[in-house]
Amino acid sequence: MKLLLVEDDPTLAEGIAEFLRGQDDEVTVENDGMRADRLLQEDGFDFVLLDLGLPGLGGYEVVRRIRKRGQRMPVILITARDALDDRIYGLDLGADDYLVKPFELAELSARMRAVLRRGGSMSEPALSFGPLVLDLDGRLAELGGAPLALSGREWEVLEALVRADGRTVARERLQGEGSGNALEVYISRLRPRLEAAGVLIRTVRGFGYRLERAKEHPSGAD
Ligand code: CA
Repeated sequence: MKLLLVEDDPTLAEGIAEFLRGQDDEVTVENDGMRADRLLQEDGFDFVLLDLGLPGLGGYEVVRRIRKRGQRMPVILITARDALDDRIYGLDLGADDYLVKPFELAELSARMRAVLRRGGSMSEPALSFGPLVLDLDGRLAELGGAPLALSGREWEVLEALVRADGRTVARERLQGEGSGNALEVYISRLRPRLEAAGVLIRTVRGFGYRLERAKEHPSGAD
């Protein structure tokens, strides 16, 4: 499992990381909330252990941003504060569980297994852009209420664009592992199908792509 541990106490971070590596987890340690947030935007982590009191960006804000981006990996908060409000607040923001310092590593391990058994994080509501709806749980796409069949890569490209909600997504982010021309192929396959329902994929020259609603399209209510 690919795990991000965000903890600014070096002794604690080292102890946890060593323990998890002993369980064959691949552990990345970060001690700054802002840098953790940046890492999380790029990398596909399966699990996040997150201290609340962090330099750069607090743990609450890190978890809020994780969920706002629609990322669903389990998050366990590590906190020195035992206040009930803190725990509720953290769980409200989308954390799956919390551990109060000091804790035994065996307890950490048990909590992680429990969260994974529950199937990770709570299910995510569908993403939408106008008439285009992506049901992430069922991996079903709908356009104007009709099913939209997508290949795996088409889904990935479209999901990234829908998540960006009209902001431009860089080519490199959409490219994946495919070769240079592949992205254009997927875009050109998606384009006519979406256009029929008034969703346009705009090319932002030299940078990437973004979604836009066709202004004159009659089904404007959303
Ligand atoms: Ca701390």
